[in-house]
Amino acid sequence: MHELSIAHSLVEIAGEAACQANAKQVEAVTLRLGALSGVVKDALLFSYDIAIENTLLAGSRLYIEELPVVVYCPDCDTQTTLDGVQRFRCDQCGQPTAQIIQGKEMEIVSLEYTE
Ligand SMILES: [Zn+2]
Repeated sequence: MHELSIAHSLVEIAGEAACQANAKQVEAVTLRLGALSGVVKDALLFSYDIAIENTLLAGSRLYIEELPVVVYCPDCDTQTTLDGVQRFRCDQCGQPTAQIIQGKEMEIVSLEYTE
């Protein structure tokens, strides 16, 4: 499963950050996940619980903030937040646009830990 390897690298990155902060135990990790990141949220949550075993993150929770796709239309100079990932069109003029300005993110936004 693709999400399991993602979960492992996520745990590795968070673990290193926690180490540098002299954390004894990580309690929660918050992740920002774009609709185009290619990651299935439920699968990642499931994989996370496996990946944290025997690490500094054991017992911690993963919180996922889902980000919708935002596209930019150069004709109207506007941004459109898409409802899904099927229609990449500008809200104003209806033109298709492929200029994605949000939606591919997969980044850790915060760590909660005890020192
Ligand atoms: Zn437009």
